[in-house]
Amino acid sequence: MTTTPTLRDVLTSGRFCYGAEVVTTRGFVPADQSSKIVDLGNALTDDPRISWVSITDNPGGNVMLTPEWLGQLLAKRRAQIVVHLTCKDRNRNALESTAWRLASEGLNNVLAMTGDHPKAGFHGLASGSFDLDSVSLIAMLKAMNDGLPVPGRKGEITTLPKTSFYIAGAVSPFKRYERELMPQYFKLLRKISNGAEFIYTQLGYDMRKFHEVKLFLQSHGISLPLIGNVYLLNKTVAGMFYRNDVPGCVVSDKLLALAEKYAAGPDKGRAFFFELAAKQLAVFKGLGFAGGYIGGMAKAESFFEIIDMAEKFGANDWKEFAKEIQFCRDGEFYLFETDGALNREYVRSLEHPGDSKEVNFNYRLSRCVHSAFFTPGTSGFNFMKRIYTGWDKNTGFLSRTAHGVEKVSKLVMFDCCDCGDCSLPDIANLCPQGSCSKNQRNGPCGGSFDGRCELKDKDCIWARAYERLKHYKETKDMLQGQAVFYNAGLKNSSGWANSFLGRDHNAKKEK
Ligand code: SF4
Ligand code: SF4
Repeated sequence: MTTTPTLRDVLTSGRFCYGAEVVTTRGFVPADQSSKIVDLGNALTDDPRISWVSITDNPGGNVMLTPEWLGQLLAKRRAQIVVHLTCKDRNRNALESTAWRLASEGLNNVLAMTGDHPKAGFHGLASGSFDLDSVSLIAMLKAMNDGLPVPGRKGEITTLPKTSFYIAGAVSPFKRYERELMPQYFKLLRKISNGAEFIYTQLGYDMRKFHEVKLFLQSHGISLPLIGNVYLLNKTVAGMFYRNDVPGCVVSDKLLALAEKYAAGPDKGRAFFFELAAKQLAVFKGLGFAGGYIGGMAKAESFFEIIDMAEKFGANDWKEFAKEIQFCRDGEFYLFETDGALNREYVRSLEHPGDSKEVNFNYRLSRCVHSAFFTPGTSGFNFMKRIYTGWDKNTGFLSRTAHGVEKVSKLVMFDCCDCGDCSLPDIANLCPQGSCSKNQRNGPCGGSFDGRCELKDKDCIWARAYERLKHYKETKDMLQGQAVFYNAGLKNSSGWANSFLGRDHNAKKEK
């Protein structure tokens, strides 16, 4: 009896394979009617050239029909369906509910991401959830795979049946500056240590950056399946990516100029754009990626045409394509030299970090205070613990006054919102609640552009944290360890008391 290969089998078979992206639409599909999306999904799942179909979850923050709906339809025809699961619209309970549904329907391949900030919905802009992020979502799915322990009605712990999720994480190497690229790579390691088993890259048009992801993983002894992302361009899409209208998607001046030049031709650039996509696939194959993932098309024939074109190239053509498709921007930082060695200037700068405007008086002071009083095991921490233990028994004047002092000082210094579960020590004394649009506690989201936040209103806190930590030669440790989960039950309580009395996530880290 033959068994259907799982996506894990496919991606670890050693054979380069192709995946296709399907994007749902806003609105519903009546049960008795056909739909372009379902027809596209069926055509892709039925074709042997396509090894898996990946279904997006409200991409770009736009509201659409959920991917799990289409996923359960397509899973009846093909086992290798990947459902994207993002944290922007659902809190941890809704994500867990969705994960149970996915597991119940046999949709075991999940790409876990933070997601773009929500766009306008019914009667205005939707607020983002971001209760979890990509790392903590991966950790939750991994915990479900291990058998989730949950309290029963009488308080006893029950272990729920184990799920079989094959968990993917994503990485965004298309960041121009060291301060935003390196945190992306460190976060990738954190995703893997928390349970990611295969990796999608962000879409992009610089093959050197794709190669760099592979080199980075190799340099850490990691050989997980890596999937390169190809998005079929046209003039309109190139313009959107160039203007950074879609967070994390980058097109350079030079590529935009080429897109505009070819789009002015009789075929509107079709031959150029299709060949570009096919060449990118050929490079992924040559570099030893597990697969290439193609998006940006509404017709199954377009996917097949690009794959057929990629398969017809000569065995070594990819080497030339890899040199040809390097559409970087001015000042682009690469972690690796073209000879594969670590960037020598970067290595030197780790030993001799220069000054940074981020290492200001505020940061120096808060570092000193943290190491003196907030580092477990120190005499300062033990002293504060004794004081707060006494105050904690007195729920009246003293504890309220201490909390008031804390609130005012942290508001002035850190833009604190009194969340009660403080992550200042995790982010070089920057506040994820007050200074990050997505409350990211486990590393940067993929949406920053030139070090600025996805929402374009401030510098990304993780780029700032990197600069601070680099000054103290502490960047390597900046994103290590288990995922941080914010405990909303501590909101509007004293973060200091919760820290000294072991009630917050920092106490769990110490265990
Ligand atoms: S307690 Fe919460 S809101 Fe306040 S500084 Fe710390 S992380 Fe930010
Ligand atoms: S501050 Fe950085 S991590 Fe936070 S939302 Fe903006 S780009 Fe993303």
